[in-house]
Amino acid sequence: MSGVNDIRSTFLDYFKKNGHEIVPSSPLVPRNDPTLMFTNAGMVQFKNVFTGLEKRPYSTATTSQKCVRAGGKHNDLDNVGYTARHLTFFEMLGNFSFGDYFKENAIELAWKLVTEGFDLPKSRLLVTVYSEDEEAAALWKKIAGFSDDKIIRIPTSDNFWQMGDTGPCGPCSEIFIDQGENVWGGPPGSPEEDGDRFLEFWNLVFMQFEQTEPGVRNPLPRPSIDTGMGLERMACILQGVQSVFDTDLFRTLTGTIEDTIGVKAEGSASHRVIADHLRSSAFLIADGVLPSNEGRGYVLRRIMRRAMRHAQLLGAKEPLMYKLLPTLVQQMGRAYPELVRAEPLISETLKLEENRFRKTLERGLSLLSDATADLAKGDMLDGETAFKLYDTYGFPLDLTQDALRAREIGVDISGFTDAMQRQKAEARSHWAGSGEKATETVWFELKEKHGATEFLGYDTETAEGVVQ
Ligand code: ATP
Ligand code: MG
Ligand code: MG
Ligand code: MG
Repeated sequence: MSGVNDIRSTFLDYFKKNGHEIVPSSPLVPRNDPTLMFTNAGMVQFKNVFTGLEKRPYSTATTSQKCVRAGGKHNDLDNVGYTARHLTFFEMLGNFSFGDYFKENAIELAWKLVTEGFDLPKSRLLVTVYSEDEEAAALWKKIAGFSDDKIIRIPTSDNFWQMGDTGPCGPCSEIFIDQGENVWGGPPGSPEEDGDRFLEFWNLVFMQFEQTEPGVRNPLPRPSIDTGMGLERMACILQGVQSVFDTDLFRTLTGTIEDTIGVKAEGSASHRVIADHLRSSAFLIADGVLPSNEGRGYVLRRIMRRAMRHAQLLGAKEPLMYKLLPTLVQQMGRAYPELVRAEPLISETLKLEENRFRKTLERGLSLLSDATADLAKGDMLDGETAFKLYDTYGFPLDLTQDALRAREIGVDISGFTDAMQRQKAEARSHWAGSGEKATETVWFELKEKHGATEFLGYDTETAEGVVQ
């Protein structure tokens, strides 16, 4: 009962039995929403239903949503391979109430599924609530029988979710599991909370207010529910391992990498990065994103090139990613038929991109190693070199940063930006051009620069109260 396919159906069947409509995952590219890079939470496809703009023939729903958290404001790219719980592509299981049930039911439903459906021991569970949400604290006490020390009150935006400057918002409550004393880390809210001992696996958002202008919140006439549980994190818990990369799902992928290039996966961040990035690349391509130099396509390119550097690091002499694809399709194709349909396109795209990049990857890496030969821990690579790697060798900035990470060498970002601006100004002086840009590119550039002004779902780190 602990493989991902079983977990997914246990979750969906449970909520179906409890009257929820099973709704298919929406694509990774949000429809008609140029403000959001990728679908990064289950609620994205329902955002207009929450606000009442859109009507659906059901008032409660459940989904297993494909999510990508890379690029844009909400970005787990740098975490992948280095934490035990972050992936760029993952599935978020969720249940939603659009003005139907609220807090008490949501907590009851979640608690029953966690302790009976998934049979997790109560003694290892704990929750956070927003510090002002006495009601949620009291409900957890009543429903789960938790003592006060198992209900941690968090005063920060981590536990108050908000759609943007205006719109529905509300406190949230997250469920954590204690993975044991032998794992480093402390409970949420403590200085050691970044460790892996306490793993967050489910977030319940109580959409309770509508913010009409900054600082003004009115109670919603129909309070709603939005939850998200990480499928891979649940697999990790049920399989008794401490890292998502140690689940069967990832072991199969990293095992294929081992078999293909003959390098052991144990303890290797590169295997983890390649396996994760293969998933996000394949699913993005299946949903119509192709590598390019702007917008979503550039994020995909960054993900792919990053994986390729790690393949190079492992000594792969030939393109690797496309060889791993059949394993992934075998694993996920039944749940996501679009992966099967797009397999030839994904395979070709991976091969083409890898072949194209290999030519400059090696030369770029040797330039990088020359340029950093005299640098030590804590030093910075100059922006000019980072820009040359970007411009001439096709190294996305984050690839260069990732390459220097193990040696704890940083990159002079402002020097990099200056070099880029200089080059742009020079190019402009040579060619006036039409000045037109794809709308998507303009959007994402503005967003990167000024942060979010419109709805970004879970996407923004700048807006207060967003679930992170
Ligand atoms: P974390 O604090 O661990 O970064 P989060 O608070 O950002 O997680 P939420 O936005 O609350 O995550 O998303 C709901 C759930 O989705 C999380 O409880 C977790 O189970 C899962 N999840 C979130 N980000 C990731 C990720 N990068 N990889 C895998 N699962 C994730
Ligand atoms: Mg959370
Ligand atoms: Mg969190
Ligand atoms: Mg996060």
